[in-house]
Amino acid sequence: MLAWFSEHGRDLPWRRTRDPYAILVSEVMLQQTQVERVVPRYLEWLERWPTVESLAAAPPADVIRAWQGLGYNRRGLNLHRAAQRIAEDGWPEDLRELPGVGPYTAAAVGNFALGRDVLPVDTNVNRVQERTQHRFTPAAGQALMDLGATVCLARIPRCGECPLASECPSRGRRYEAQHKQSPFEGSFRQRRAQTLRLVAEAKRPLSELDRKAVESLARDGLVRVQPCGEFVTLP
Ligand code: SF4
Repeated sequence: MLAWFSEHGRDLPWRRTRDPYAILVSEVMLQQTQVERVVPRYLEWLERWPTVESLAAAPPADVIRAWQGLGYNRRGLNLHRAAQRIAEDGWPEDLRELPGVGPYTAAAVGNFALGRDVLPVDTNVNRVQERTQHRFTPAAGQALMDLGATVCLARIPRCGECPLASECPSRGRRYEAQHKQSPFEGSFRQRRAQTLRLVAEAKRPLSELDRKAVESLARDGLVRVQPCGEFVTLP
């Protein structure tokens, strides 16, 4: 599989660095956004904030604006909070202490940046492990991710192109459609995103905005209702 990876692995910009900050940025962006959309945003982000200190020093409003379009805006704010924490106290031993960093992201940064002996298991890696009924070592992390993303696909795996096919008990099987994420169109998530976009453009009167969405965004720290209660701004 490692030989397959050296020939077919995806050339992604965050694979050309071992900088834990850059890798944390990529992993947080990738949590719920597709690779193709993340690549240009990741490059822009690092050009603007090349170090953890530069991001920590940025006003939250700039960070929220820069995150627009990546979705799940809380991730951007958490990344900012994580940078502030690291700039102040250094990297914690347990990366899960950082805001917005769960077991998967901690394992990915630990493995890809810090060389820790831990396998990051995302949905792709999990699928390959389940189908092959094999537990892979941490050295296989990147290769497993690409195999799951490009060959061992959720519904119709391309077993004919798979380097594991000769030993895989699931070879040739087909799978039912997976449970799809609930539609964004018409959802509360969409209302929140629209409201945040309006506030990111300019300070807005509360009366012009979706009040429920504002309340929810304010709870997450993504917007601020001014003390007079009439205007909404970014923090
Ligand atoms: S042989 Fe098929 S099912 Fe097995 S790991 Fe490869 S692509 Fe997935």
